Amino acid sequence: MNKKTPKSYENMLEVKNLKTYFLTDAGIVKAVDGISFSLRQGETLGIVGESGCGKSVTNLSIMRLIPSPPGKIVDGQIIFEGTDILALPENELRNIRGNKISMVFQDPMTSLNPFLRISTQMIETIRIHQDISKKEALAKSIEMLKLVGIPAAEERIFNYPHQFSGGMRQRVMIAMALSCEAKILIADEPTTALDVTIQAQILELIQKLSKKLNTSVILITHDLGVVAGMCENVCVMYAGKIVEKAKTDDLYKQPAHPYTFGLIQSVPRLDKAKDGKLFSIEGQPPNVIDLPPCCPFHPRCHKVMDICRNQYPPTVDLGNSHEVSCWLYAEHKELADA
Ligand code: SF4
Repeated sequence: MNKKTPKSYENMLEVKNLKTYFLTDAGIVKAVDGISFSLRQGETLGIVGESGCGKSVTNLSIMRLIPSPPGKIVDGQIIFEGTDILALPENELRNIRGNKISMVFQDPMTSLNPFLRISTQMIETIRIHQDISKKEALAKSIEMLKLVGIPAAEERIFNYPHQFSGGMRQRVMIAMALSCEAKILIADEPTTALDVTIQAQILELIQKLSKKLNTSVILITHDLGVVAGMCENVCVMYAGKIVEKAKTDDLYKQPAHPYTFGLIQSVPRLDKAKDGKLFSIEGQPPNVIDLPPCCPFHPRCHKVMDICRNQYPPTVDLGNSHEVSCWLYAEHKELADA
């Protein structure tokens, strides 16, 4: 009999028209509203936006970890290695969640159990997904801790989480996330709770491991500066939708959406410091309960036109995999100007 070889897929992950809503007493919160993107093997994709734009809900949807009720994935497909995750029964999903797709959260202290040694937590995680002995799982755990740069890993593995610094705890979380040879690592604001110097080390570590293990990474952040050195492609989210999608270099050189432009301007740069004031986008993100069908950015947009207040803009292909949802680039813009 022929031995089965793993299939190769052009896209490791394809998210198609994903809609995740929360049904609340105040109305329907369209946290994620019809987004689509793909992720190739070994690629690092950034998902950027302000708090509440839907980036974390997107990734919880990929893991099928949306609390229900009140949350519900109401439409769309999440194709991982050719299979729609949304159509899988819970027992098959367990083989993917935490095994093939892993997550690293913002604050490692909330993910690690403070009462259990790191060894216990890592061994358990590995043995849930792999049929190996405790001894083998311990050896694998130590190997992973070494890989993420924990010194004296053979001894430190028997420590409790509080005996590690914030940066070291995040390294432990990354080791746990990758210990089952995950194909996709979702890093949700992985450095927000850390000092600036440690932030750089953790991002560098994720980048290094992704290359070494050929793991695809989805990096969620509110900081476009973080994306610059890490990601090949970026999706900018606003009010539950992707408003711009591009290769990172193109997005920085030629941001098309006024919101992206504002985010780039908000990144602190030493060479641009003049009077010491940082740029900020005026106004607040909209309340996503029962949003009217217009451009949700229009109250904050300095290029707003009449049509923006009445209709949601179409998505325009600008070429070279650069897409934007904005009336400034739509064919019928002249109608708006009239
Ligand atoms: Fe601004 Fe209009 Fe574009 Fe929205 S559609 S970002 S309001 S120009």
